[in-house]
Order: sequence, then structure tokens, then C-alpha cells
Amino acid sequence: ATDDVAGAVAEPASDADAPAGPLPVVAVVGRPNVGKSTLVNRILGRRQAVVEDVPGVTRDRVAYDAQWAGRRFTVVDTGGWEPDARDRAAAIATQAELAAASADVVLLVVDARVGALDEDEAAVKMLRRTNKPVILVANKVDNARQEMEVAGLWSLGLGEPHPVSALHGRGSGDLLDTLLAALPHLPPVGDAPVGGPRRVALVGRPNVGKSSLLNRLAQEERAVVDSVAGTTVDPVDSLVTVGGETWLFVDTAGLRKRVNTASGTEYYASLRTAGAIEAAEVVVVLLDASEVISEQDQRVLSMVAESGRGIVLAFNKWDLVDEDRRYYLDREIERELKRIPWAIRVNISARTGRAVEKLAPALRTALHNWERRVPTGQLNQWLTALVQATPHPVRGGRAPRVLFATQAGTSPPRFVLFTTGQLDPGYVRFVERKLREEFDFEGTPIDIAVKPRA
Ligand code: GDP
Ligand code: GDP
Repeated sequence: ATDDVAGAVAEPASDADAPAGPLPVVAVVGRPNVGKSTLVNRILGRRQAVVEDVPGVTRDRVAYDAQWAGRRFTVVDTGGWEPDARDRAAAIATQAELAAASADVVLLVVDARVGALDEDEAAVKMLRRTNKPVILVANKVDNARQEMEVAGLWSLGLGEPHPVSALHGRGSGDLLDTLLAALPHLPPVGDAPVGGPRRVALVGRPNVGKSSLLNRLAQEERAVVDSVAGTTVDPVDSLVTVGGETWLFVDTAGLRKRVNTASGTEYYASLRTAGAIEAAEVVVVLLDASEVISEQDQRVLSMVAESGRGIVLAFNKWDLVDEDRRYYLDREIERELKRIPWAIRVNISARTGRAVEKLAPALRTALHNWERRVPTGQLNQWLTALVQATPHPVRGGRAPRVLFATQAGTSPPRFVLFTTGQLDPGYVRFVERKLREEFDFEGTPIDIAVKPRA
């Protein structure tokens, strides 16, 4: 089941017809056992893909790509999270706040058979403060008779409760229609620039220096602005001027306030990371250069690598790196960062300020390449020469030919190769490498789809 789940996250990049740019984010929150994971599965249309019945196991993946009536959005599932038994109401409220922070719309799930509990009310109170649209989902309404029970949920003050049976699907279509109506219409980023500040996610495991860097950046320019004309800034985001340009660092509330939650910390962390990445166009992954790249770093890196966003890798705490460490770091980089050799690297120190001025140009380069469009003529001129010089190897007496290519989209760049047959994965990698050499896609993933002519 876990493999399925991993696939769900990686999908967007391979869909040639998909709109480019970040998708709107929907967070599903509520008490344990109200049916959040069941609802997420219902929304994804893939039952059993997510629910994992091992208590205490936190799932790595919390963000999933979903689609309804032709619109794509990201669902953030908080169902794998077990709050601290001691102060559950507070824990659930915090969870709701964190999930809502990086969402455009919140689905608050309540068990209609149980009715509203203190814990539900604590979550409602917190959600009100975020000013996000909240849709109240009355779950476990498996039949018409049970719809009576829903009326009591008006008392939560969130307006009309939406009765559904996540388990059987009853009412889920209506719920999804309501959800779509509440989603913001984000124009595709690459094809039609949105205007306003570019959205940056600053991610990395605890203690790599995220809040130090944010503070340093804000201080260097002495201008943490609160608002920019024509844009609405979420209270959880920070507008920071770096390199003469104002950037929107998404979901930095936790960095500013230094919230520490005793329970579910790691789960919160991956929730936040996933949400921030989804909301961003480009991601700064912070690594601690003075320490070995850990499994936790790797988890963050795979989330980012699969997200289709531009990447800047910032090796922080460079002031602690001596020649010895440098030697080992080079080897670690070679080994651990094989999947994203194209990511832009900067070596910085949030403490001393070393090279932090390189961050803004790196972000600009990554975004520029993320949105780059290669004209069809130029692309094919190059491709023709390439396949002539290095044709596909012969397999069983035949070699598929590459006929034509087109760039199907941007943000990130997506290419389609039209061929006479399936290509070896190795050959596709070769084409990607050459494409990168020719057209400079530093800092951005690119996607290549192969379409054999029928
Ligand atoms: P979560 O902890 O909020 O993610 O809850 P789960 O999705 O794990 O569901 C908790 C339990 O409620 C499971 O046994 C589900 O099968 C059950 N459940 C979820 N949705 C429904 C529903 O619509 N009707 C009924 N009868 N049971 C449901
Ligand atoms: P976060 O958890 O990722 O937000 O990390 P913090 O910003 O809280 O930093 C964790 C610790 O690393 C703090 O003690 C910082 O002072 C320290 N730190 C952050 N950046 C640097 C740096 O560039 N050099 C050194 N030597 N220490 C740093």
C-alpha cells in the first residue's frame, strides 16, 4: 500500500495536460477516528491506499494529488496523527492550526453519530482564528435516517454541516462540489505569471538553522514588510526582502514563534513541510553542513525531489566546516544527492551571514529555469542532431526512432518525445542529460514523457 501512496505524490509532473504551478491545498482535520483517512481515500478514489492500521506509526506522506470534476488539488491528510492523551483538546486544536496554516480550505470532520465534543469545539475555535474557509463534514451518515443527527452540529457555528459517509461514499460528490466552489482559482504559474511576490518554502529538519536564516535575511535588509499592495498575506507567511526583491516565505509561523509541541512533533514537521512545499514555487532545503546528511534530511529531500518545484540546497553552518569535514561532505553529497544533481547549491552561514546574499540569485535562477519554455523549432533542431549522432541502441534487430519533441508545459518544464516505439529508460536519461546541457535547467526538475506513435 505504501508504494501506491508514494506514486500518488509524484503524479503531477507526468501529466502532460495538467495545469502548471502549485495546486490549491485542502487540509482534512478532526479528532482521531472520525474518519479523516477514510475520507481522504474517498476523495482520492483509491480505497485502502492510505489507511495503515499500525498504531503509533506516522506516515511519511501526508500530501496527495487529487482531482474532481477536472480540477486538481492537493489533499493534506492528518489522519495518521495520534494526539497526546493528556490534553487532547489542545493537541487537536494545534494540529488543526498547523494543517490550516498551509491550506487554502479546511475540511473539519466530525463524527455525526457522536456529535460535537469539546475537542471538536477547540478545533473550531482555532480554525476561526486562521480566517480560512472551513467546511464542516458530518461523517458516518451512512443512511437517510442518520441525517437527523446532523442538525445538532449547527451548534459549532460553522454553518451547514455536510452529511457524508466516507466509508460508503454517500454524499461525497456533493461535498466535493462544495469543496471545489471554495477553492481559490490559482492561475497557472508558468504560463501566466501571477504577479506579486514569488512563494518560497524554507524547509529542513529541526536545528539546521531555518529560523536563524529567516531572521538573518529579515535583518540584513532591515525590511520585513507586512503587506504588499494587491496581495493578501497569510498571518503564517512572511514577506521578506532579499536581494532587492520581496519574497513570500510560506508557512513560517512556526519558525517565528518557535512552537514546540511535545507530541507528534515529527508528524507535525512532515505535515508542515509537505504543506509548505505544495504552497511554494521554489524550495530552499537547508542542510547542516557540519553534520552528516541524516535519514531525516533524506526524508525532506525526497519530498522536495518529488514535488516538481525548483530547488536550492543551502548548506548552512559553513562557519563550522573545516577541511576535514569538507572532504567527507563532498563524498556525502555525491552519494546522497544523486537524485537531484541539478539542484543549485550555496554554502552559507546564517550565524555569520556568509554568502547569504547568494540565496536570492539562486532562487531567481531556479524559478527562471522552472518556467523556461524552449521553442519547438529550436528543440527539434537540437534533438535531430542528437539522435543522429547517438541513435537509440538496437534491441532485437530494431531501434525505436525519436521523431519529434514538444514542450508540453512549464513549472516545471515538461517534454513529450514522439517515437516509433518505447525507449530504454537509459536512453531517456541520456536525452535528459543532454537537454540539460544544452538548455540550462539548473535548479529545476524536468519531466520527459515518451509517446510511441500508434
Ligand atoms: P481517522 O482517525 O479520523 O483518520 O479515522 P479513520 O479514517 O481511520 O476511521 C476510523 C474508523 O471509522 C474506521 O474504522 C472507519 O472504517 C470508520 N469510518 C470512517 N468513515 C465511516 C463512515 O462513513 N461510516 C462508518 N460507519 N464508519 C466509518
Ligand atoms: P531550526 O530548528 O531549523 O529553525 O534551527 P535554528 O535556527 O533554531 O538553529 C538551530 C541551532 O543552530 C541554533 O543554536 C543556532 O544558533 C545554530 N545555527 C544556525 N545557523 C548557524 C550557522 O550558520 N552556524 C552555526 N555555527 N550555528 C548556527
